[in-house]
Amino acid sequence: MNGLTEENIRNLLTQIKSQPSGRNILSDKMVKSVDINDQFISIVLEIDPTQAEEMKQLNALIETKLEKIKGSRQCRIILTSHVDSQGESTTANPSDKGPPPSLKPKNPQISATNAKPEKLNPEGVTNMIAIASGKGGVGKSTVAANLATALAVKGKKIGLLDADVYGPSQPRMFGLSGRPASPDGKTILPLRNHGVTVMSLGLMVPENEAIVWRGPMLMGALQQMLTQVQWGELDLLIVDLPPGTGDVQLTLSQKTDLFGAIVVSTPQDVALLDARKGIDMFRKLNVPIIGLIENMSSFKCSDCGSVHHPFGKGTLEAEALKIGTEVIADLPLDLETRMASDNGSPIVITDPQGAVARAFSDLADQLISTKLFE
Ligand code: ADP
Repeated sequence: MNGLTEENIRNLLTQIKSQPSGRNILSDKMVKSVDINDQFISIVLEIDPTQAEEMKQLNALIETKLEKIKGSRQCRIILTSHVDSQGESTTANPSDKGPPPSLKPKNPQISATNAKPEKLNPEGVTNMIAIASGKGGVGKSTVAANLATALAVKGKKIGLLDADVYGPSQPRMFGLSGRPASPDGKTILPLRNHGVTVMSLGLMVPENEAIVWRGPMLMGALQQMLTQVQWGELDLLIVDLPPGTGDVQLTLSQKTDLFGAIVVSTPQDVALLDARKGIDMFRKLNVPIIGLIENMSSFKCSDCGSVHHPFGKGTLEAEALKIGTEVIADLPLDLETRMASDNGSPIVITDPQGAVARAFSDLADQLISTKLFE
């Protein structure tokens, strides 16, 4: 019983007791799917959302057991909540202040028993890419907003899904506020600005309110953003991921046909180290890396006009070479870029002839010339 097969995994899962029944988690039908992808195991567990805290211990136990299987490198557990007989999702508005559109999952796919969960590709969307980073604050959301706008300026139909659940910043970057409408109580109408169709969890919860997402809520929210938002016909949906390598990354990679991921990093060692983990995860999940973006690596001195590289030059380039990809954009540290984002208009709109806007325009041209827009 030591190979990495689904049968062996299921056998091991029968050894794990579920509470309070005292039976095992398989016979209690908690295990909704078992996936093996290049030595990477993922298990979807359906749980009672009130037990989310207690599940942490169980998760740790499952991960430890499964990671002992010969050939397995990592095990991830995705928690999903129970969908009751009326089809009500337990995905909640975590603020509980003023209801968001009352939503019922059209298709509670994660709950489908036994069979592999079906995909969550949004309707009408030709391609999807993810913008990722290893750590927060490196400019991932700035890149997502400006790239989306630059492509829209060039006539492409672009959507932006802000899945950075821990710090959704796209409403601020696009100057959007107010709850999205849900005329039929089933679908959500996204908002639109600067030619880009935008949906963010930040639009569903009051601004500045700390969002504590439990696993099931998170997965339900992601599912809704993908399948219940009326995205319309889009050439490309850009997904602004949370930083790191968590459940959102895993679910998106496994449940949608991502064309690829762009990884944003600053040149500092720590950011790069974290970015490497992200790249490694996408590789394991068979999501191609479109390229790396180096952000805030240089600045132009406003007094003498010379360009400085405070963190050294070429760090990301060397990293890209090592992993067989390339640096597809190199963006300077630029005060105007930050101010534009803070004021609700990406720099691509406010200063289209500036260095940063031109870098985004070039990046958009680069992408338009690839298979992504064929
Ligand atoms: P992340 O999504 O990685 O957390 P953000 O895009 O929110 O990062 O950027 C973090 C902060 O850095 C924001 O205030 C943003 O305006 C600023 N910022 C991002 N890129 C640049 C840049 N090239 N020049 C100046 N400020 C930037």
